[in-house]
Amino acid sequence: MRPFLHDQPATRTLFGEGRLAELPNEADRLGLKRLLVLSTPEQTALGGEALRLLGPRGAGLFTKARMHVPIETAEAARAEARRLDADGTVAIGGGTTTGLAKAIALSLDLPSIAIPTTYAGSEMTSIWGLSEGGIKKTGRAEKVRPRTAIYDPTLTYGMPARLSATSGMNALAHCVESLYAEDTNPIVRIFAAESIRAFARSLPLILKEPRNAEARSDAHYATWLAGTVLDRTTMGLHHKLCHTLGGSFDLPHAEVHTVILPHATAYNRAAAPEAMRAIAQALGAEDAAQGLYDLAKSLDAPLALKDIGMKEENLDAAARLATQSPYANPRPVELAPLRQLLDDSYYGRRPERPAAA
Ligand code: NAD
Repeated sequence: MRPFLHDQPATRTLFGEGRLAELPNEADRLGLKRLLVLSTPEQTALGGEALRLLGPRGAGLFTKARMHVPIETAEAARAEARRLDADGTVAIGGGTTTGLAKAIALSLDLPSIAIPTTYAGSEMTSIWGLSEGGIKKTGRAEKVRPRTAIYDPTLTYGMPARLSATSGMNALAHCVESLYAEDTNPIVRIFAAESIRAFARSLPLILKEPRNAEARSDAHYATWLAGTVLDRTTMGLHHKLCHTLGGSFDLPHAEVHTVILPHATAYNRAAAPEAMRAIAQALGAEDAAQGLYDLAKSLDAPLALKDIGMKEENLDAAARLATQSPYANPRPVELAPLRQLLDDSYYGRRPERPAAA
C-alpha cells in the first residue's frame, strides 16, 4: 500500500424515501430560523413544498436558479437573501440550484441544506462556479459546502429519461477521473468503483421503469459516492474539456459530459491502465471507454456533439481553447490528438481499441 492522505470533511447525510419531511428538524439542528428556499423555475412547485414544510422557519422562495450561475442571478438571489434577512438557504433541485446556494454562501456566508434531485453530486463538494460574460469561473471554498444533504429518492421518480441518463453519465465522469487523478487514494478508488457499479446496474433499469424505487435509490446512493470523489480529487482532461465546451459554446452540461466521457477515457487509456481496469470491471465490460459508450447508447443518451448543438466549424477553436492552459492528466493534452478526440465526439464514433489491447 502506497502512503496516502484522505481528508474528508463531513456533510451530514440523510438518505431514504420520504426523508424530505425531516427538513424542519434539520433546520432546527443547525439553529436556522429564516431559510430562503431556492429552486429553478421548472421546480417551483417543489420549492413551494419545501417552504411549506419549513413552516415558520421559511423566509421565502427564490425560483430563478439558472444553469452555470450567471452573476446576475447570483446577485439577485443574494439581494433577496439580504432583503429577507435569511440566515441560511435550502437548495432543492439539481446542480444548478445547489450552485446558486453556493454562490450565496460564497459572499454572504449563509449555510445551506441541499436536497438533490439529480445525480450531479454538487451537494457533496466545496466546488463553486459563477459565470460572467459567457465565461465560467470555478473555485473551491469550504464555506460553500452544504452542511446537510437530504437524499430522498422519491424526488427523482419523475426525472425525465434523458436527464436521468445524462445526469448519471455526468456522475460517472467524476468517478472515472477520480480513479486516475494524481491525488487519488485507496478510499476514493473504493467509492468510485462502487459508484460505477451502482450506476451501471441502476440506470438501465431506471430507463425501463422510471419509478422503480430500488433503482432510483441505488442511483442516488451512487450520486453520493460520485460527488464525494469529485470533491476529494482533481479532475483532468474530461472535466476541463466539458467546461470549455459548455462555457464557450453554450452546450448543455450533463449532455456534453455524456458525449465526451467515452472519448476522454479512450484518450487516457494507455496512460492509466489501473484505472481502466477498475472502470471496465465495475461496468462489467471488456474495455472502459467502450463500456461507457455502450452504456450511454443503451440509455438512449446523446452520443454525438453534432446532436447537442455543437457546430463543426467550432471544433478547431475548442481544441485550441482546451489546450491553452496546462493541467494534470495521465496523458499530456496535445492539440492534434485532442482535435481527433473532438472529431470522434462530434460524430459519436464508438471508441476503437488499439490492436494490441
Ligand atoms: P440542473 O440542476 O440544471 O437540472 C436540469 C433541469 O432539470 C432543470 O430545469 C431542473 O429544474 C430539472 N430537474 C432537476 N431535477 C429534476 C427532477 N428530479 N425531475 C424533473 N426535473 C428535474 O442539472 P444538473 O445536471 O443537476 O446540474 C448542472 C449544473 O451543476 C451545472 O452548472 C454544473 O456545472 C453544476 N455542477 C456542479 C458541481 C459541483 O461540485 N460544483 C458538480 C456537478 C455539477
